[in-house]
Amino acid sequence: MNKRIVIIGAGQGGLTAAAHLAKNGYDVALYERGKRGGISYPWTDVLSKKIFHEAGLDQPPVEQFTAEPAWTFIPPSEKDYIVIPENPASGNVSMNRQALSEHLIRCAERAGAKLFFNSPVSDLLFDGDRVCGIVVSGEKVYADLVIDSSGLLSPFRGKVPDKFGLEAMPRKDGVMSAWRGRFKRKAGSPDPEHKNRLFLRPRGLNGIVWCVLDEDDTVDVLIGQIGGLTVEERDKFLCYLREKCEIMPSEDPFQGRYANICVRYAMPVLVADGYALVGDSSCLTMPIIGCGIDYAVKEGFCLADMIVRGEINSFDANSLWKYNQKIIHDFGSETIGLDILKRALLSAPEKLINGVFGTHIITGELLFDVMRGSTAGALKPKVVFSVLKNLKTILPVVKFLLPALKASGKAKKVAKRIPLLYDSDKITAWKDRYNGFFS
Ligand SMILES: Cc1cc2nc3c(=O)[nH]c(=O)nc-3n(C[C@H](O)[C@H](O)[C@H](O)COP(=O)(O)OP(=O)(O)OC[C@H]3O[C@@H](n4cnc5c(N)ncnc54)[C@H](O)[C@@H]3O)c2cc1C
Repeated sequence: MNKRIVIIGAGQGGLTAAAHLAKNGYDVALYERGKRGGISYPWTDVLSKKIFHEAGLDQPPVEQFTAEPAWTFIPPSEKDYIVIPENPASGNVSMNRQALSEHLIRCAERAGAKLFFNSPVSDLLFDGDRVCGIVVSGEKVYADLVIDSSGLLSPFRGKVPDKFGLEAMPRKDGVMSAWRGRFKRKAGSPDPEHKNRLFLRPRGLNGIVWCVLDEDDTVDVLIGQIGGLTVEERDKFLCYLREKCEIMPSEDPFQGRYANICVRYAMPVLVADGYALVGDSSCLTMPIIGCGIDYAVKEGFCLADMIVRGEINSFDANSLWKYNQKIIHDFGSETIGLDILKRALLSAPEKLINGVFGTHIITGELLFDVMRGSTAGALKPKVVFSVLKNLKTILPVVKFLLPALKASGKAKKVAKRIPLLYDSDKITAWKDRYNGFFS
C-alpha cells in the first residue's frame, strides 16, 4: 500500500487514475506542465455521461452538459448531405473542456492526490532498465510506478529501453493536425438550415472541416488534415467556409489554436518495468472521429482499479501486462477495425463517395449506428432494397471497400488474441500481426 505512484499530465486519463488511486490510499503525485485553469482546451467536446459513474467519479453538475450536436455531413461534391439525428438515448453530451478539467482536478484533490501545476517533467529516471521516477523542474522524484498520461506526442515512450517494444512516436498518418477557432457570428446573418456542418474531404483536403453555430451565437470552426496542416492550408479553408457558410464573418477569430488529434489504432505495447501508458499517449481513440475522452477515463480507471484490487501486485512489465492485455482485448479490438475503414475511406476516389451520398441509402440513423459499431441498421429490408435498386453505384463502392471490411474483421480478431501472459517472444510475434495491417 505504501507504493508511490507518479503521474505525468493532468488530462482526463491521468486525473481519473489519480482520483481512484488516492481514494484507495495510494501515495499519488501528478505533475502537469500547464497552469491550473489553463490546461486543456477552451472548447466544447462530446463525451459519454456514464463514464463518471463507471470510473467512480462524481458527475459534474447537469447544467454543465448540453446536447450532443446533430451533425450534417457534406460530401466533396457538396450536392448532397446526411443529417445525423439528435439522439438523447446515446447517452452522449457536450461539455466545455476546461470545466471538465476543473471537475476532474477537484475529484482528484478531494481523493487526496497531490497535484503540481506549472511542473513540466523533463525526463524519466532509470534503475537499470526499470523506470524508477521522473525529473521535474530539475528535481529527481522517485516512484514505484510512473503513469505516462502526457498525451499523443509523449516524449517519454521513446526513452524506455527498446527491449520492452514500445513505439516512440505515432506515424504521421495516425495524427490529425487540426486548427480549431471561434468567431463572432456574422452580424445580421440568417439562421442556417444546418447548424453543425461537417465537410468531408472538401477541395482535396485529406481530412475534415466543420462549421458549428454554438448556443452562445459564436461559430466554432475546425480544420483537420491527416499528416499536417500548414498556415496557408488553414487560411485557404477559412476562405472556403466564408464562401459556404453564411454565418462566417470576415473578421479574424477571437480564439484559435493548433492541436493534434489521435486518429489511429491503439499502440500494442503500453507497459515496461515501472511504467504504463494511459490515454492519448497509448493512442487509444476512435480513429474515425478521434473521441478519446471516454477512452482516457476508462484506461485511467482500469489501470488504477487493477492496482487497487491487487490484480497488479508489482509494477514490473510482467504484472502490468494484465492491464495492457485487458485494454487491447476490450477496447483496442473495437478501434483497430475502424482505423482500417478510415484509411480506406480517406483513399476512396471522390466519385465513389459522392455517388454513395447521391443514392441517399446512407441515412443519418444508419451512419449513427455504424459510427457506434453496430451494423444491424445496414441489414434492414428498406436498406437492402435501396442497395439493390442502386447496384450500379453501390457495386464499385463495395468492391473498393470489401478488402478493408475483411481486414477490419480480421484485425479485431488478432487484437483479441493478444497473449494473456507476458512472454516476450509471443508478444513480438503477436505485435507483428497486429501492426501488420498498417505496414
Ligand atoms: C480539436 C480536438 C477535438 C477533440 N474532440 C473530442 C471530442 O469531441 N470527444 C472526445 O472524446 N475526444 C476529443 N478529442 C480527443 C481528446 O481530447 C483526447 O483523446 C483526450 O483529451 C486525451 O486525454 P489524455 O488524458 O490522454 O490527456 P491529454 O488531454 O492529451 O493531456 C495530456 C496532459 O499532459 C500534459 N503534459 C504533456 N507533457 C507534459 C510534461 N512533459 N510534463 C507535464 N505535463 C505534461 C499536457 O499539458 C496535458 O495537460 C479532441 C481532441 C482535439 C485536439
